[in-house]
Amino acid sequence: MPELPEVEVVRRGLERHVVGRTIGTAQVLHPRAVRRHEAGPGDFSAAARGLTITGARRRGKYLWLPVAETAPGTPSVAEDALLAHLGMSGQLLLGDPGRPVSPHVRVRFTFTDSGPDLRFTDQRTFGHLALVPGGAALPPMIAHIAPDPMEPGFDEAAVTARLRSRGTGIKAALLDQSLVSGIGNIYADEALWRAGLHWATPASALSRAESARLLAAVREVLGEALAAGGTSFDSLYVNVNGESGYFGRSLAVYGREGEPCPRCGTPIRREPFMNRSAYSCPACQPRTRRRARRGRSL
Ligand SMILES: [Zn+2]
Repeated sequence: MPELPEVEVVRRGLERHVVGRTIGTAQVLHPRAVRRHEAGPGDFSAAARGLTITGARRRGKYLWLPVAETAPGTPSVAEDALLAHLGMSGQLLLGDPGRPVSPHVRVRFTFTDSGPDLRFTDQRTFGHLALVPGGAALPPMIAHIAPDPMEPGFDEAAVTARLRSRGTGIKAALLDQSLVSGIGNIYADEALWRAGLHWATPASALSRAESARLLAAVREVLGEALAAGGTSFDSLYVNVNGESGYFGRSLAVYGREGEPCPRCGTPIRREPFMNRSAYSCPACQPRTRRRARRGRSL
């Protein structure tokens, strides 16, 4: 599933290639792709027509394009949003409008400039698009999602305090999008390895220094992954031009069970975690018995 770096790579591609353009047609090829658009596929197509895209924004794993109704060239303020969640396998692909339409294309947008079209392609159909009235600044359905570590509004001190008040293990806390958004299985495991912490350590047992170290590791790994174009696992994650990211080759633990830890050579272990897996180094990330802190001043 795409996490923050992958979605940010897509956002940057959209910012470069669709901002300032006006939607000519929006053809819904599979109604499931717009299931969160309450008025239905017909309304989606009709409402999208003629909208000018004025920006490309992101919070965590959600993307949205602020859209304005006025014609290009005239002053316009975007009030609404075209919201996108890529789900497990969603792609937003730009290309020659005349190229064949693959069977996994769910929604196709053409533009009034007759330039490259935009195709929402989604093999597993967990992703979705919706037009959100009044959502330009922040679509209301994602307002509960916490700022992500790359947003200017990310308050590190506040997140550190909230992290240390959680009653779960630290990996579960990192995956909780109401605490910090954009982090999934891959980057949680990588950040925990960098910070030298076992995933099951109670969040409430972290010292302030450990908590700061963990958030620094999260930022670092997200930044490096972004610079590498993200991580492409199963060829489903690609940028708007259909290219894969290459951070996969830099992963230290995720998906590397039995392979040597890049730091100490110990074989990486895989443990069951919430119906999925947690990868870690037994030597660098020992599972220590800890108790939750009693007070908050430690
Ligand atoms: Zn190690």
